[in-house]
Amino acid sequence: MSTPRSEQAPAQTGDDAAPRQLVVLSGKGGTGKTSLVAALAALASDKVLADCDVDAADLHLVLDLHPVRREVFMSGKEARIIPERCSACGLCADQCRFDAIHPARTDGGRATYAVDPIACEGCGLCARVCTSGAVELLDARRGEWFVSDTRHGLLVHAHLDIGGENSGKLVTLVRDQSAALAQETGAGLVLVDGPPGIGCPVIASVTGANLALAVTEPTVSGAHDLQRVAELVKGFGLPLAVCTNKADLNPEMAAEIRRVCAEQGFPVVGELSYDTRVVRAQVEGKSIIEYGDSVVADQIRGLWKIVEAMLQKEEE
Ligand code: SF4
Ligand code: SF4
Repeated sequence: MSTPRSEQAPAQTGDDAAPRQLVVLSGKGGTGKTSLVAALAALASDKVLADCDVDAADLHLVLDLHPVRREVFMSGKEARIIPERCSACGLCADQCRFDAIHPARTDGGRATYAVDPIACEGCGLCARVCTSGAVELLDARRGEWFVSDTRHGLLVHAHLDIGGENSGKLVTLVRDQSAALAQETGAGLVLVDGPPGIGCPVIASVTGANLALAVTEPTVSGAHDLQRVAELVKGFGLPLAVCTNKADLNPEMAAEIRRVCAEQGFPVVGELSYDTRVVRAQVEGKSIIEYGDSVVADQIRGLWKIVEAMLQKEEE
């Protein structure tokens, strides 16, 4: 069942204004962040979606994807040994501090050396020490990124190859591409599913955003993770709103999170009830908004109204 158009309230922006960017974060995985993003995707119209969780993208699991663009993500260098030029002296293998070069054989059985592309860090030392000119440094493929059409609008998403690094750079690419796409299509909002944690990819996803929405859970570790996210977001001078998921499972802790947020000036824009239908909806590839009436769906509608107003206020 598709979301009724009447539920899809447009993010209010001026015609010529740059699209607003809302990034949804959590201090760690498993807080329900992506379920909330999927629900917001069903509620907000006039937006582009960005899945910045490039290490474990899962927003696509609740959206029907129809890829419209697919690109390779190249970043950094990796070494390759040209066997015809290699005298198998072993000097490069001795010098490589990442243990990425090992003895090998050509198809004809001649001794040579070869680079393990997963272990290679692209430092270039082997190319400098090789006096035979047998090492070339090539642009390295680290993953892929995509633009897909979904029932809730265009989605920019990506995945890193196994062993692929520079997830921060790939997040920046996804964010930049989604912002450009929103600008191009006149969308008023970029809704970003941020990576979990507080590392480099999170910093990349927060840069340039207008508002951060942190999803937490009513546990001691949830409160601790929220504090870490709050400090990071504060460092960027970004307004922060908070949503406590499964708040009814521990009302005392939910109240404590409310108290700490009030003390620090972060509005708690939603406290969501625990509802097994959220997972059942996900299993069926839907958001909770598309899964019939429920208390939690109404709570998310209320949350979205507040967040929308905050985004609008940020614009003024
Ligand atoms: S230093 Fe050059 S010639 Fe020697 S093993 Fe390495 S690639 Fe081959
Ligand atoms: S580029 Fe650096 S890490 Fe890669 S094989 Fe050469 S020395 Fe090792």
